[in-house]
Amino acid sequence: MSTFYFDNNATTRVLPTVLEAMLPWFSEQYGNASSSHHLGQHAKAALVAARAAVAAFVGASPAEIVFTSGATEANHMAILGALAADPTRQRIVTSVVEHSSTLCLLAHLAAQGVEVVQVPVQPGGELDMAALADAVTDDTALVTLMHANNETGVLFPVAAAAAIAHARGAAFHTDAAQTAGKIRIDVRQIGCDLLSFSGHKLHAPKGVGVLYVRKGFALEPLIYGHQERNRRGGTENQAGIVGLGVACRLAQEYLVHHAGRVDALRDRLQSGILARMPFARFNGSAARVPNTCSLSFPGLHGEELLHRLDQAGVIASQGSACTANGTEPSHVLLAMGLSRDEALSSVRFSLSRETTEAEVDIVVKTMAAVVEAMTAPTSVAA
Ligand code: PMP
Repeated sequence: MSTFYFDNNATTRVLPTVLEAMLPWFSEQYGNASSSHHLGQHAKAALVAARAAVAAFVGASPAEIVFTSGATEANHMAILGALAADPTRQRIVTSVVEHSSTLCLLAHLAAQGVEVVQVPVQPGGELDMAALADAVTDDTALVTLMHANNETGVLFPVAAAAAIAHARGAAFHTDAAQTAGKIRIDVRQIGCDLLSFSGHKLHAPKGVGVLYVRKGFALEPLIYGHQERNRRGGTENQAGIVGLGVACRLAQEYLVHHAGRVDALRDRLQSGILARMPFARFNGSAARVPNTCSLSFPGLHGEELLHRLDQAGVIASQGSACTANGTEPSHVLLAMGLSRDEALSSVRFSLSRETTEAEVDIVVKTMAAVVEAMTAPTSVAA
């Protein structure tokens, strides 16, 4: 049975070119980049090249890139580092729809006395900018907001949010795990102090990520040690970082030459589903990243729908892979005003640049067949 993978917001396939570039660093090129012998120096040179590629990908300079184990660690480093910077600023402003890697840490900090303010969103998923402006005070350490939502793809106006934060002397961090590789990112245009992303969302492997730290922005480390200019200790994930460098270069080329392609496929998927299942509703009417489509199917159970799709070879998800267990409704959809049942009836399709039109058409057909089977009146035995 063929597999049609529409869960790219959870993770993406490592591209063959990325894997090929990584392989030598597991075997013949096994030096530690901190060693002075030639194997070490060779490894160090590869890290320098990867750092330059990652920096170019987000419009930063190489010295502003800190390699981490992923976006979760980068988010922790940003939030804890910003809090440690000034004991008179112990307030953090965020949104109600952030990823669990942010919300779980903030819940822990709130229990320890840090003031955490969560700004609401509107029914289309838009951030309430007036509420944001009210929430940021002179004792705010950090405003942390996702660049795009992992469940709906809705984009937050991070440049405007950064300006609001800075006007009160607060730092600004954005979690760009769901925009990296999907839209062009420019840290100077956003005006952020800190920006996180994870390799495995853009066809690099799991276990490698980035925190961009603006030059001159003093940030306390989360893990102490001499690597990464004393900002993140621990022997570098050499192969992962090399893979991330290649993935960033490929993503940058793709975004320059193929803008609009994934949007068109996503729109074809969405309109195809809505045409054949007019009772479905799509979630997130605000501007979105090109690849994401979240739909509710009122009256149906999303988890069962996904299970039947999976059996037919179509892989999608109910929302965040980090919280999805099918029993609790998505906090994102609830915050947008959906009822518990509506949220539990939702399915998220997330495409990649490898997705084809033929695959989209198969998914629409499969969805129609699965939904028809789930809504058909059950025959009653005579
Ligand atoms: N933030 C967002 C918005 C995400 O979607 C994810 C991954 N689901 C993360 C952070 C965490 O990334 P990782 O698990 O790779 O650390």
